[in-house]
Amino acid sequence: MGTPALHMERRRPLPTTSFPGGDPDATRTLRIDPAVMTERAQTLLPSACDVVVVGGGHAGCEAASAAARAGANTVLVTHRFDTIGAMSCNPAIGGIGKGHLVREIDALGGLMGLAADRGGIQFRMLNRRKGPAVWGPRTQADRKLYRAAMQGLIKETEGLTVVEGDVFDLSLDASGAVSGIVFADGPRIACRAVVLTTGTFLGGLIHIGDRQIPAGRMGEDPSLGLSGTLRRLGLSLGRLKTGTPARLDGRTIDWASLDRQRADDEPVPFSFMTDTIENPQIDCGITRTMPETHAIIRDNLARSALYSGQIEGVGPRYCPSIEDKIVKFGDRDGHQIFLEPEGLDDDTVYPNGLSTSLPEDVQEAFLRSIPGLEKVAILKPGYAIEYDHVDPREPRQVSFRPQGAGSLSRRPDQRHHRL
Ligand SMILES: Cc1cc2nc3c(=O)[nH]c(=O)nc-3n(C[C@H](O)[C@H](O)[C@H](O)COP(=O)(O)OP(=O)(O)OC[C@H]3O[C@@H](n4cnc5c(N)ncnc54)[C@H](O)[C@@H]3O)c2cc1C
Repeated sequence: MGTPALHMERRRPLPTTSFPGGDPDATRTLRIDPAVMTERAQTLLPSACDVVVVGGGHAGCEAASAAARAGANTVLVTHRFDTIGAMSCNPAIGGIGKGHLVREIDALGGLMGLAADRGGIQFRMLNRRKGPAVWGPRTQADRKLYRAAMQGLIKETEGLTVVEGDVFDLSLDASGAVSGIVFADGPRIACRAVVLTTGTFLGGLIHIGDRQIPAGRMGEDPSLGLSGTLRRLGLSLGRLKTGTPARLDGRTIDWASLDRQRADDEPVPFSFMTDTIENPQIDCGITRTMPETHAIIRDNLARSALYSGQIEGVGPRYCPSIEDKIVKFGDRDGHQIFLEPEGLDDDTVYPNGLSTSLPEDVQEAFLRSIPGLEKVAILKPGYAIEYDHVDPREPRQVSFRPQGAGSLSRRPDQRHHRL
């Protein structure tokens, strides 16, 4: 990833005229390609701040925005500004259990609910037949609209600077307290606290059948330095896995033959700050796997990365692949699949319920055995991904003391340093 690029500065405005374009609004949208980063731009990198948040995914955006709202001078470091608000898997927000979380984030002044209201294209209140305590607000989002909304909200946040770069290491002071972050090729930012929200990127490895691709998600490099740092600090790391289905070309789906799932007539926003939902609302298609689908998957289980022994990680939550469903619930004659358009002006369709790590030829064969998908074309194959995580059962408060150059160890008995 190389030298970090300064992306924007809010609290201490940059001299905008010194950058190509000369747009007075450039402080909000400035992007300097690391490959052509000037010496002058390097000097504009913040040298110190209160809080550095590493990672601009859902978690990082909320952490950075919360820190800045609380008055901390905050830097959000992420690989690319244009992936802020990117949705790795299903372009949906909320659902049973998760919808409550979005509402709680909103009540605390967070961003996700507002972005979902601006990007949502199929609002549904799940579980309405039960009491309001267990209703689950959910919306499918137009990927582009959600991303634009989140990037806009981040740009508007006072006291927040975004830097593009790969955080490779953490620096500690003489007492063992975390004192800053270090980029891959040397520059550093000193800070009082670091928040790591690296998602699926730490040591990320994609599996499609027996093909393996080092990546944080499809098309993006993994983060390779920080796992070593965390291990060196004595934290125990594990491997988690998750997966995603193939993306389909909606123009090759026989929509007319499928049942439809409609949005609610009156969409209920996530955020208490949103008055009305402006976006048009769309239908999804509904179909089912067939006995033939199950036979194709069963016959090829040995070629699935999940079942060939190639993947050692465990799932972070119960979101089973189609292979898992066929093996664990073999008596079922079919599994419901929702065909969810990924945007208002996008033909890409997300087949919800068909996450897989089977090879591409098997993916095509089982997809084409499903009603409505007989002639379907795959735009991107499904895949599984494994990545490093810190065991959440680690002590909540730990400290690190250097033991000679380059050697660090955890000292749980000391109280004053936090990670
Ligand atoms: C294939 C796939 C399927 C998934 N399926 C599901 C699912 O079904 N259900 C579910 O709940 N979740 C699923 N997820 C997990 C999904 O990642 C999370 O739901 C959610 O996106 C996590 O948000 P996050 O903010 O923690 O991390 P992410 O969205 O992964 O974002 C991490 C960010 O950190 C940046 N970053 C990482 N390391 C560094 C570094 N060293 N320096 C600078 N920047 C860095 C990355 O560029 C990225 O922007 C899936 C993910 C993938 C890839």
